[in-house]
Amino acid sequence: MSETPVKDEKPKKDMKDVLAAVETIKCPVQRSLKFVEEFLSEPMCGKCHPCALGSFEAMVRLKRISSGRGTQGDVAAIQRIADEMLEASRCIKGKDTAKFLLNELKTGSFKEHLEGHCGERECLSYIMFKVIPEKCVLCGLCKDACRYNAITGEKKVSYRSGYLPFEIRQKRCVKCGECVPACTYGAIEVIEEKSGVLV
Ligand code: SF4
Ligand code: SF4
Ligand code: SF4
Repeated sequence: MSETPVKDEKPKKDMKDVLAAVETIKCPVQRSLKFVEEFLSEPMCGKCHPCALGSFEAMVRLKRISSGRGTQGDVAAIQRIADEMLEASRCIKGKDTAKFLLNELKTGSFKEHLEGHCGERECLSYIMFKVIPEKCVLCGLCKDACRYNAITGEKKVSYRSGYLPFEIRQKRCVKCGECVPACTYGAIEVIEEKSGVLV
């Protein structure tokens, strides 16, 4: 009986695709996270531990930093993981991933994130959208624009005083940013969650 020929299955993704996936991302933390997630989902084959375990552990640490819960220990761990992956990964794919992480670590942006600052505003946990009460004229345009029903307030005639300004319910806000251009009065601004400073 003749054996069924085994199909030479090509991987769906290669390292070029992984790089392409991060092309438009500017924040080093987000770039690193996306790179590692993409790498783990396909070209990473799991045949050697420094790369397989290292990239998974790096992803966990990067997620923590991206969500605003990162510590100096996480940054140090990513540095250690990348050094080990560069040294001990069996193939160029693991080594290239390590090099990518090491380059991003050099930017200094990871340290800024630990201080609550994402310069590119791509880590959404670091920012919040807020109505500036003094600028709000109670027109309700933002409420109409928000698909997540995250804005409360009542439309009133702007010249009447004494009404509360519109407000963004932070628990419902998914930080899509659509209310910002909708407010033609410039009354919605982005602030840093930790410092409360405008960004
Ligand atoms: S370094 Fe290469 S062989 Fe090792 S797990 Fe990563 S992709 Fe596979
Ligand atoms: S669109 Fe701007 S001015 Fe109008 S209610 Fe919303 S925040 Fe206030
Ligand atoms: S950022 Fe998006 S979800 Fe949040 S209040 Fe504005 S429109 Fe709604």
